[in-house]
Amino acid sequence: RAETVDVAIIGAGAAGMMCAWEAGKRGRRVVVIDHARAPGEKIRISGGGRCNFTNLGTTPKNYLSANPSFAISALKRYTPQDFIGLVDRHGIAWHEKTLGQLFCDGSARQIVDMLTGGLRAAGADLRLTTAVNAVERSADGFLLATSAGPLACRSLVIASGGKSIPKMGATGFGYEIAGKFGLKLQPTRPGLVPLTLEPGLLERLAPLAGVAVPARVRHGKTSFEEAMLFTHRGLSGPAILQMSSYWHEGEEIEIAMAPGTDVFARLRAVKGANGRQAPATALAEIVPKRLAQLIAEREAGGRNLADLSDKMLQKIDAAVNGWRLKPTGSEGYRTAEVTLGGVDTDDLDSRTLQARTVPGLYFIGEVVDVTGWLGGYNFQWAWASGWVAGQTA
Ligand code: FAD
Repeated sequence: RAETVDVAIIGAGAAGMMCAWEAGKRGRRVVVIDHARAPGEKIRISGGGRCNFTNLGTTPKNYLSANPSFAISALKRYTPQDFIGLVDRHGIAWHEKTLGQLFCDGSARQIVDMLTGGLRAAGADLRLTTAVNAVERSADGFLLATSAGPLACRSLVIASGGKSIPKMGATGFGYEIAGKFGLKLQPTRPGLVPLTLEPGLLERLAPLAGVAVPARVRHGKTSFEEAMLFTHRGLSGPAILQMSSYWHEGEEIEIAMAPGTDVFARLRAVKGANGRQAPATALAEIVPKRLAQLIAEREAGGRNLADLSDKMLQKIDAAVNGWRLKPTGSEGYRTAEVTLGGVDTDDLDSRTLQARTVPGLYFIGEVVDVTGWLGGYNFQWAWASGWVAGQTA
């Protein structure tokens, strides 16, 4: 005979552990299964080891989904303030870094410990290094074949995350289960990921590897103003990661590396005051030195400012603030922070995260077609969707 529980949750990540804690508090008998050796591995490595656990400015506008209103309900019912309350009650110190992003003062492990401690105190059972080999519908729920034996449950919660960082145990498991039970999927692709450049351009930009600039990256109507980083493979940094979720192969992006600065006017003024100055020297007052040198060399050769016409100064301005380029691709799931797309929200009830056509089957967290911006929004979705499912599962 199979062991029987009320709620089986697959995935001991951010969403799964939050759901387990809440369902446990309601007196449900809960088991959380994960094939990994440790729970919450992505929490542990997140935010450079300090976990950017939420964002004070969270609104549904900070998420990408085929149905932008789907996330409204969960995000309203479980807010950043709710999670901050939880963190405060557990004595975890935190600080706001920038743009509403909250990080632990100490270590991301504190968040993992809070969740595992919470779910255990609520009576939930965490089973690690356990694989789920098959899932079938039963008369009153679901029957799982796991590496630790059969498990029957009334409610089954899929919290197995997306495909990013396969090295850390990410699988397409959740999408397979959704497909098996007839739920639609929105196409998946890597998000919050560095973009790559064609070899010729990369070679030209090689001296800039490691240089960071505050940039405004624009694509169509979307733009982000944050730091950008030149790397050996292409472009990275928050502004690029944000844009990568909106960008598709073949499309152009436009980058301003001195946003808000009239580069032409500044260079013209310096030219008037000291025409013998090298353009690179004048430009280095506006952008990092190595970038200034590269642009000046390309646009002005060996000339000094006095030898540059207004048209040439405008070309330098355009190279700084109107750089248009077509990235060739992204670094893919190997380095992507999230997976865009996933379980189609049309097939889920936004108030419970339950599948409309399969009572008792829930999808929460990153496996759902709701993807946040960089900055703590993805964890907020994981907490909110996990909390909501935990109220009914
Ligand atoms: P996950 O946390 O990925 O958990 C899924 C769990 O399911 C894992 O434990 C996995 O082992 C398990 N699993 C998968 N397949 C199976 C299977 N077949 N059987 C059993 N178990 C399975 N977001 C932020 O908001 N702030 C940040 O600072 C931040 N930093 C990040 C840094 C990095 C490097 C990465 C990769 C992501 C970061 N993110 C951040 C995104 C965030 O980590 C995810 O959005 C979030 O973890 C999703 O939660 P989840 O519970 O849905 O999935």
